Amino acid sequence: MTKINRRSCLEPCATEGGNLVGRDPRKMGSSGLMAAGFEPMTPMEVIRAKCLDCCAGSAQEVRYCVAVDCPLWPLRMGSNPWRAPVSEERKGALRANGAKGLAALAKAHRAPESDAATASRLPDSPQPVNGAKTAATAQAVGAPIHSME
Ligand code: SF4
Repeated sequence: MTKINRRSCLEPCATEGGNLVGRDPRKMGSSGLMAAGFEPMTPMEVIRAKCLDCCAGSAQEVRYCVAVDCPLWPLRMGSNPWRAPVSEERKGALRANGAKGLAALAKAHRAPESDAATASRLPDSPQPVNGAKTAATAQAVGAPIHSME
């Protein structure tokens, strides 16, 4: 995890004699939180991170946790056991939608062709216009020469 800028997460509190207290994250907004070093996470990811922190980073210890009175205990493995399992039909629909979405994203974000790539496809010399070999010939036969510049 990125180092958090503690100072930007605290503020003086009049009712606490001007002492620093934690800022309200709802008022910091996502940009303020990210500026302080937080990364966007889902609540389940946060719970899993908290459990790993509680167990000094050991996933095995989180798995073996015996603190069954901890409110996080049912969620400590990083998934929500209260949610109904996703049916195979629903998984298939989600996969199909995901593939469509990824294809659309890839199309929308396809890198524009570089100048070098464009240049490599262009002819080295002007192409004949209506069969003419040069601009002069093109003029002589009355062909447009704007594409020969
Ligand atoms: S569920 Fe267990 S590992 Fe997770 S925070 Fe609570 S005591 Fe720690």
